[in-house]
Amino acid sequence: MGLRQKHLLSRRHFCLCCMTGGAFAATGGWLTPRQAFAEARGIVTLIKDSAASSPVTAYKLRGNVSVLEGSGGNIAVLAGPDGKVLVDGGISVSRPQLTKTLSGLGAEPVTYLINTHWHFDHADGNEWLHAVGAKIIAHENTRKHLSEIQRVEDWDYNFLPSPEGAIPSEVLSTNRTLKLNGTSLELKPYKPAHTDGDLSVTFAELDILHVADTYWNGIYPFIDYSTGGSIDGMIAASDANLAVATDHTIIIPGHGKPVSNKSELNEFRDMLVDIRDKVEALKKSGRTLEETIAAKPTAAHDAKWGQFVIDPPFFTKLVYEGV
Ligand SMILES: [Zn+2]
Repeated sequence: MGLRQKHLLSRRHFCLCCMTGGAFAATGGWLTPRQAFAEARGIVTLIKDSAASSPVTAYKLRGNVSVLEGSGGNIAVLAGPDGKVLVDGGISVSRPQLTKTLSGLGAEPVTYLINTHWHFDHADGNEWLHAVGAKIIAHENTRKHLSEIQRVEDWDYNFLPSPEGAIPSEVLSTNRTLKLNGTSLELKPYKPAHTDGDLSVTFAELDILHVADTYWNGIYPFIDYSTGGSIDGMIAASDANLAVATDHTIIIPGHGKPVSNKSELNEFRDMLVDIRDKVEALKKSGRTLEETIAAKPTAAHDAKWGQFVIDPPFFTKLVYEGV
């Protein structure tokens, strides 16, 4: 493991989405599939080990909604007499810290878990949360991906099917509203964006919006082409998020600083559009991926967005794939 990877792994809310980026940075070039696979296996273990010792921190938002940081993607919690409702379940090795932090938000058990999408750093906690009584709800494509062997090309990694208890028991493909703890939770599928199973969750009366991995606050996002994601889908999802948010809305991003707002989201959207246009122009002029990366189409944004695991070359590759 290179110094850079050690540095990255010491930071919070890194995720499995980042394996190839780290592999790229550590070697200064693309790994062969065999090397990348070995590297990826190592990083999965490192992520689990690191999550196992990371604290899980709760930030109170509005009403009885909090956001938890420290176990994979940002987790929203709605507490109350109907039991706790979680939006995403983090990484399973964080169970002790997550259990402790959740108990600080009230004595009720977790009764519902909504998966924003199938990725490991959001759904790995499904099995234990189901075992303690949570009913799992997700997009129908999330259930499909969790049920099958799933190959993520950009990670050069194969995920095995999840155990039975981790599979969502209730799925949706159109908007659906749950009334729990005096709050309306609006579950809305996106068109394919980060994956083909992304859901947003709105806590309607409280004006809080969890936008899943369609938004990474202050860092370049991963885009999972293996399960239907694309740069254009990410931009369309950002536009959809901006259309429903106001200056009063608290926005919970999938990754990055866990409490955000419309103006920060707007910067994210503008960054995506600018880089997309630059990469598209380079690709259309006949540049290869390597030449496009060498032209540094992300340069104007790297100081702000490129300081995390999806580094400028890897993000350029993700955009290049989709234009
Ligand atoms: Zn993800």
